[in-house]
Amino acid sequence: MDILHTQLAKIQRHLAFVAVDPIDWKFYVQLFSWGVTLFECYLLLRQYPLYSKTTPPPALAKHIGQEDFEKSQKYGKDKAKFALFSKIFSQCLDSAMLQYGFYAWCWNAAGIMLGKFGYGAEYEILQSIVFSFLMYLLSSLPTLPLSVYSTFVLEEKHGFNKTTPGLFVADLFKSWAVAFVLGAPFLAAFLYIFKWAGDRFVPWLMAFMITFQLSMVILYPTVIQPLFNKLTPIQQGELRSRIESLAGKLKFPLKHLYEIDGSKRSSHSNAYFFGLPWSKHIVIFDTLLQQSKPDEVEAVLAHELGHWYFLHPTKMMAISQIHIFSILALFPAFLHAPPLLRSFDFPKTVAAKPPTIVAFLLFQMILTPLEAFISIGMNAVSRHFEWEADRFACEIQQTLEKKHGVDPKECIGMEDMGERLGRALITLHVKNLSTVWVDWLYSAYHHSHPTLTERLRALEAFQVEQKKSN
Ligand SMILES: [Zn+2]
Repeated sequence: MDILHTQLAKIQRHLAFVAVDPIDWKFYVQLFSWGVTLFECYLLLRQYPLYSKTTPPPALAKHIGQEDFEKSQKYGKDKAKFALFSKIFSQCLDSAMLQYGFYAWCWNAAGIMLGKFGYGAEYEILQSIVFSFLMYLLSSLPTLPLSVYSTFVLEEKHGFNKTTPGLFVADLFKSWAVAFVLGAPFLAAFLYIFKWAGDRFVPWLMAFMITFQLSMVILYPTVIQPLFNKLTPIQQGELRSRIESLAGKLKFPLKHLYEIDGSKRSSHSNAYFFGLPWSKHIVIFDTLLQQSKPDEVEAVLAHELGHWYFLHPTKMMAISQIHIFSILALFPAFLHAPPLLRSFDFPKTVAAKPPTIVAFLLFQMILTPLEAFISIGMNAVSRHFEWEADRFACEIQQTLEKKHGVDPKECIGMEDMGERLGRALITLHVKNLSTVWVDWLYSAYHHSHPTLTERLRALEAFQVEQKKSN
């Protein structure tokens, strides 16, 4: 532990200037955030002309009908226009909030509100909670019309919206309530650890964050998700027995197999799994079940089980721990830095003894450009994982027979898993009207999955390889 703290102290010494130098942080944040937004707009402008192409890429030509292709091009075009508008709108809004001291105003307003109830500035954690919710509510209200437009105009026009206005409002209030019920105690504990551990907060906060993430693994499916969706066990039948047999052969600890009414809100479809290492739930969207045959759904699950087999969620979580650790390691330099708060219009009295939550928020804003790079890296890792899971599905028969000693007789009918996965991916893609032509830079920046063309090409290559080795 002491080695850790000596190393952390070294980093702090390099960053000591933050606490004394009057740097114009606000200017930097404006510059960086506009830089990121303009880059994202540039990507959209690279992608946009591709929606005017009149024929699908050669690799997809035999899988996608002209009518579906034209529909997906129109949908993509509308979505791109909307994305461009909302990006610029949100950036202008953020920029104005930054320029006119919105954060300082919120802190002050939270103080005044609490003062009315007899709580003074010494109740920093309480004021931090009120501050966070005030900020969250006030900054989410102006973008509310965008999400109304997206749901009821854009998605509606292309036949995806299944949300009613009543459901939309109920969802909104439910998500606010969940944010408050979970967020307030989380924030209180988070801030309390800072106070309690002093400058040695890094390992304690890490332990706290990991505990929180793990408890969400239990709480999300059992408490939170049922607030928004209905999960029904999948009935006995071809699909259930296919999935159970697949899970059994792989020794996947399948506890529950559910269908989720995703179509209540939207017809975009998928499948996923979650849970503790010894007890997993698989959830399949009703839309996927309606659109694909049982043997295709099985192939989608073979892909999902590939993620489990290669420990992808665990690896992702490890990466995110490193990410959190690096952020926390840099943070102390910004924690006691009056010039930082001054540059964001906080009054001298507040800046003299910076509230942790405010320092953390401003620090996060300073990290924006770095986070953009990290997200590019994370997407690349995620695309690699998708490729690995596709290969797993393709080679599942060989893996079971050769690596796990499963009787070849039990694996009959699995040799075409890759082909079935390909068919399921095409159906998903076509029904979701997903983009067919993709600019490489746009994809590298935004996509957590390889494009359909890339995936089909890889699936074909795996199959060729497999035939050679048989
Ligand atoms: Zn996947």
